[in-house]
Amino acid sequence: MPRKRFDLTFPPNQATKPITYHLVKDYDLTPNILRAQIQPGQEGRMLLEITGPKESFDAGVAFLEAEGITVQPAATDICLDEDACVLCGLCTAVCRPGALTMSAETGALVFDKDKCVYCEACVVACPRRAITLSF
Ligand code: SF4
Ligand code: SF4
Repeated sequence: MPRKRFDLTFPPNQATKPITYHLVKDYDLTPNILRAQIQPGQEGRMLLEITGPKESFDAGVAFLEAEGITVQPAATDICLDEDACVLCGLCTAVCRPGALTMSAETGALVFDKDKCVYCEACVVACPRRAITLSF
């Protein structure tokens, strides 16, 4: 089943709308909120992963945009500059989902894409600026 991640920006008056309910009920899509920063009366942001039939994605995105929500493809990978990385492990300490770990066998930095929620904590934590997000 196809899976895509989207970065949603809500205008202040739309931030509490039950969009995930409508994606499930009306578009046969399964949304998974990976990250959200939503306060009533303020602009909101949400990182949303959607799984469902390929033909439903466009209709689901069109629904979100019709609701006044800005929909952009979310980051899909992180890039490591191996020349800059000194294997200090700081990024693994801030990675709450456990997507970044140090290999006990090789000492290498290991990235598990399926666990990453693209929170950017590792990008901020890295003293060498060795990690960037790509889209
Ligand atoms: S914090 Fe930066 S330098 Fe340290 S292990 Fe992670 S990527 Fe490498
Ligand atoms: S973006 Fe967040 S979840 Fe992904 S590797 Fe970095 S700290 Fe971990």
